[in-house]
Amino acid sequence: ALSVGIVGLPNVGKSTLFNALTKAQNAQAANYPFCTIEPNVAIVPVPDARLDALAGLVDPDQIVPATVRFTDIAGLVAGASKGEGLGNKFLAHIRETEVIVHVARAFEDDDVVHVSGNVDPARDIDVIETELILADAQVLESRLDRLVKQTRGSKDRDLLDKVTAGKRLLDHIMTGQPASTVPDIDGPGMAALFDEIRPLSAKRVIYCANVGEDDPNGLSPLVDKIRQVAAARGAEMVVVCARMEEELAGLADDERQEFLASYGLTESGLDRVARLAYHTLGLISFFTAGPKEVRAWTITAGAKAPAAAGQIHSDIERGFIRAEVISFDDYIRCQTEAKCRAAGVLRQEGKEYVMADGDVVHFLFNV
Ligand code: GDP
Repeated sequence: ALSVGIVGLPNVGKSTLFNALTKAQNAQAANYPFCTIEPNVAIVPVPDARLDALAGLVDPDQIVPATVRFTDIAGLVAGASKGEGLGNKFLAHIRETEVIVHVARAFEDDDVVHVSGNVDPARDIDVIETELILADAQVLESRLDRLVKQTRGSKDRDLLDKVTAGKRLLDHIMTGQPASTVPDIDGPGMAALFDEIRPLSAKRVIYCANVGEDDPNGLSPLVDKIRQVAAARGAEMVVVCARMEEELAGLADDERQEFLASYGLTESGLDRVARLAYHTLGLISFFTAGPKEVRAWTITAGAKAPAAAGQIHSDIERGFIRAEVISFDDYIRCQTEAKCRAAGVLRQEGKEYVMADGDVVHFLFNV
C-alpha cells in the first residue's frame, strides 16, 4: 500500500483525523481482507468508481481496492530533531513514508488550547518543517564526515561526486531551505546521496487545512494562509473538517451521501486526501477482473507491463510472456471479456507496453 505519514503540531486535529481513518478501516474490514496492525496505522481503501463498475459486471467473490496506509506521527514538536520528547523515533517513522500529510489548524475554538497561544497555521507549518530540515542537517553532517574520510586517496568518481553533492546540500539546508529545493538537484551524485540519506524535507507534502464544523467549505482566512504556503511550495492543499470526518466515517454509505450533500459536498475530505496522495506521486491503477476477485493494483505512471505483473507476483514478472489488455472504457462498453475479444478490443501487448490508467489486464507467463 502507498504509505502516508500524518504530521502536524499537537492539538491541530491529527488524532481526530486518524480516528476517522481507523473507523473507515474498521467499517471496511468485513468487505476487505485487511489484517489488524499497529495502533498508529490505518489502512484504508482508495475509492474508485471504476472498480465498482467492473465488479458490477463480473460479480466476483470479493472486491479488493487499492489502499493507502496512514501512519499517525504524533509527537513532532519544536526540538524534535534534538531528541526532544520522543522526537527521533518519530522522525524515523516519517522516513519510511512516501508522502507527508501536514495537518494545520484552521479552526478557531477557545476550548482547544494552542501550543503557541494563538492560531497561526503558517507559523505552525514552519515549526514542523524547520524540525524536518534540522533533522536532515544532522543526518547529513554525520554521513558527510564518514564519506569525506572514505575519499582520502580515493579516485572513486561516484564517491567524490556524492561528497560534492553532500556539501552543496548541507550549505543549502543550513540556510533553512528544504532539501527538495537544492540547486542542481539532477547534478552528479545528488540522486545517490538522496537514496542514502532519504531527506525528510524532500518528501512530497499535501497540506491539510483542518477547518471548524462551522466552516466545512474552508472560507476562513486561516485556510488562505495555508493555501499560500502550499502554493509557495508547489504543493496541494485539501480542506478537511476532522470532527466531521469522524462523524462521517461512522455512517452507512447512503447516510454518508446525505450528510455530505447537506453541506454541499460530494466527497469526504479523507477520500480527497487518499486520491491526492495518489496523484501527487504520479500513481495509476490497473485492474484484474475474474470470478474470484476484481482488484485494483497500484503502479507508477509510465510503468511497463512486466513491472505491473510484478506487483501481482515476482514469478509473473520473471516469466512474463505477454499481457492481454482491455481498456476500461472498452470493457464497460462490451460488458464481458468474451465480447471484448469478439469486438477486437482485447489487445495482445508485449514487454515494452506502457500501462495505461484503468487497463483491465490478464498476464500470461511461464512458470
Ligand atoms: P492532535 O494533537 O493534533 O492529535 O489533535 P486532536 O485530534 O487531539 O485535537 C485536539 C483538540 O481539537 C481536540 O479537543 C479535538 O476535539 C479538537 N478538534 C479537532 N478537530 C476539530 C475541528 O474541526 N473543530 C473543532 N472545533 N475542534 C476540533
